Amino acid sequence: MIKSIPIPGIEDFDKPYWENCSKQKLSIQHCADCKAPRFPPRHMCPKCQSLNHEWNIVSGDAILWSFVVPRPPLLPVFENQSPYVVGLVELIEYKNIRIIGEIKSKSDIDSIKIGDTLSVRFKKINNEISLPYWVRE
Ligand SMILES: [Zn+2]
Repeated sequence: MIKSIPIPGIEDFDKPYWENCSKQKLSIQHCADCKAPRFPPRHMCPKCQSLNHEWNIVSGDAILWSFVVPRPPLLPVFENQSPYVVGLVELIEYKNIRIIGEIKSKSDIDSIKIGDTLSVRFKKINNEISLPYWVRE
């Protein structure tokens, strides 16, 4: 039984991503040779197979590309948070990069819709992990 939310494991190749999240900054991995952005972080460039990579800080501004509102029955750790919105956001700076995260809204979550404009925030889970989530203003 899951007693808390699953926490991502940190590997050598994605450690900068989590370090930047802990500093309240969203970063995207790029190939250091052909400069292609990629997400999620991985060892090898899918375009040129280079193992060299670099990280660029991005604004985190995004458009809501798709979303779901999980409803009970859910595992207890998630049922306690329900209702909540899980979104797939498309970054403004990179149309080919979509990231999953919680979507929060100052107004009723039932008014959330595809195409909403979002900005990134970070929720500290522990000293190594801060999870990005997006807020509709
Ligand atoms: Zn490449």
